[in-house]
Amino acid sequence: MLEDVLRQIERRDSFVLTSHARPDGDAIGSALACCQVLRAMGKQADVVLHDSVPRIYRPLPFADQVVQANRLNGSYEAAIILECDSLLRTRLEGLEDRFLINIDHHASGRPFADVNWIDPHAVATAEMVFRLGREAGVPLSPEIATCLYTALMTDTGSFMFQGTNEHTFALARELTLAGADPSHCARNIYFAHSGAKMRLLGEALRNLNQEGHLVWIWVTQEQMERCGAKEEDCEGLVNYALSIADAEVAVFFRELPDGRFRVSLRSKGKVNVAKLAERFGGGGHECASGCAVNGPLQAAVSEILSQLRPGPSLQ
Ligand code: 5GP
Repeated sequence: MLEDVLRQIERRDSFVLTSHARPDGDAIGSALACCQVLRAMGKQADVVLHDSVPRIYRPLPFADQVVQANRLNGSYEAAIILECDSLLRTRLEGLEDRFLINIDHHASGRPFADVNWIDPHAVATAEMVFRLGREAGVPLSPEIATCLYTALMTDTGSFMFQGTNEHTFALARELTLAGADPSHCARNIYFAHSGAKMRLLGEALRNLNQEGHLVWIWVTQEQMERCGAKEEDCEGLVNYALSIADAEVAVFFRELPDGRFRVSLRSKGKVNVAKLAERFGGGGHECASGCAVNGPLQAAVSEILSQLRPGPSLQ
């Protein structure tokens, strides 16, 4: 619970904050905002991530201070893991023996830490960090507001995903009043793509398949190399497939260097894709989830689609 988290923070002086590997907007924005909240409380705090900050999130305040590492060094009194439903997903070594605080909004969230605050009703982890800052009496600076607004905007799919409601807009209003600039935040994210990403989108759309309400696209390692695309350039491609009018579920398959496939699942609401991802050892939300499956491509596609075709319910 929030009160437990705050009590544990108040008792300690130094913190490391982290999130899942391949961080998205909520992972980065929440970690950066939470770090600033802790510093405003007089604590020493650093953000350490396994992967580098994706290009579109680099303009965020303090993003240049994020440390990229495979292993955690330093004698922090506690680690705060945000927007991440297991230690494994951080891909950071050296967390196991520390005092752990887990702040997460995933439906697949698990109480793996010493203190766990999991709220699947929060539209983004950013909403929880906002509540933490308010409870701690930390003034909402324009920098904190900008990080939280960007996290909120990206995790709600620009305020379009299911779960977006009047509270989301009330929060967006608070953040805007505190100094977040909506058009500036949106420009950094949605009008800042690399040319490589656009070329990869072209490849992915050439591989578009539809079967009733199911739509899927895929990219191979060879295509990514040819386009000069990085892993982070794949973020959001699945939404183009979901944008087809009669698509209920969209799936994006990305070949990994080891021949397996990373799978991104999106639903318009009728199908619970978190349940499907969990069957394959992944997780996420009812409308946005992910997992990894074995290749080759045809096997990966069949494995996932066989679970999505009419039959046993995933509602
Ligand atoms: P994406 O498709 O953008 O990678 O992920 C969509 C959602 O599913 C995000 O909330 C992400 O955190 C979650 N997710 C993606 N892959 C995994 C996974 O392998 N395990 C778990 N637990 N969650 C995942």
